[in-house]
Amino acid sequence: MSKKQLVVITGASSGIGAACARSFHAAGYPTLLIARRGDKLKELGLKGAVLAEVDVTNSSELLAAIRGAEEIHGPVDLLVNNAGLMPLGRISDQDTTEWKRMLDVNVMALLDATQMVLPSMIERKHGTIVNIGSVAGRNVYDNHTVYCGTKFAVHAISEGLRKEVANSQVRVSVIAPGLIETELLHHTTDPQIVADYQAYKDSVGGAISPQVVADIIQHVYELPQNVCIREVVLAPTTQDA
Ligand code: NDP
Repeated sequence: MSKKQLVVITGASSGIGAACARSFHAAGYPTLLIARRGDKLKELGLKGAVLAEVDVTNSSELLAAIRGAEEIHGPVDLLVNNAGLMPLGRISDQDTTEWKRMLDVNVMALLDATQMVLPSMIERKHGTIVNIGSVAGRNVYDNHTVYCGTKFAVHAISEGLRKEVANSQVRVSVIAPGLIETELLHHTTDPQIVADYQAYKDSVGGAISPQVVADIIQHVYELPQNVCIREVVLAPTTQDA
């Protein structure tokens, strides 16, 4: 297929999503970039990219953003379900609103966005869903209980969805990173948990650049449609957890 098709990236204002936005834009893909911080999306300076200052938990605004971009660029061919947050804590004393928010963003919005683009992909027998899971979607870590729950859900949902759409030639990939240098820890309010996380990160020599994750996602997407990289797990070589 010669003309590049529409790529939608949720959580494109920082970290992995911003790196994906830069990479796909540089490669000439039409992009729809979604996040709450519209100023950060503008600061990316990606000429021609469609920017949507939208909270992904607002289904009607999310749908309007996707349909609006499709009117300009045609149907979505790649959805990168990347928006997420990680307020770490313990079940015994964590503010329960943090759990609800995590489930709403990390899981429910991923499902919503997927359903918004999937019927057209199935009809066209073409399309790719990339879900950002985590090593925390395969292993359980201290103070990560609910976050791990959301990421285990992402992994399970992705496995199930892949089976649902395999016969329609729609690909579903999970990218499961370990420590990546982004704003993700900013959501954690407990100073001791932040200090412990930071200390572990320092002990392994720091995290990986989000650009590495973006490069992997672009590679996964640009393989022929009959090749589905089901899961990529990546972490700093020195990360032993
Ligand atoms: P960042 O905090 O840098 O980026 C998170 C992005 O999600 C931001 O662009 C943020 O935009 C967006 N976002 C959060 N909530 C919403 C919302 N309600 N509506 C729209 N956008 C939202 O962290 P990362 O880049 O690390 O996170 C990206 C993904 O990678 C997440 O799913 C995370 O769980 C996953 N991950 C990260 C790892 C790491 O070590 N960094 C490891 C494994 C997985 P805004 O605030 O402007 O809305």
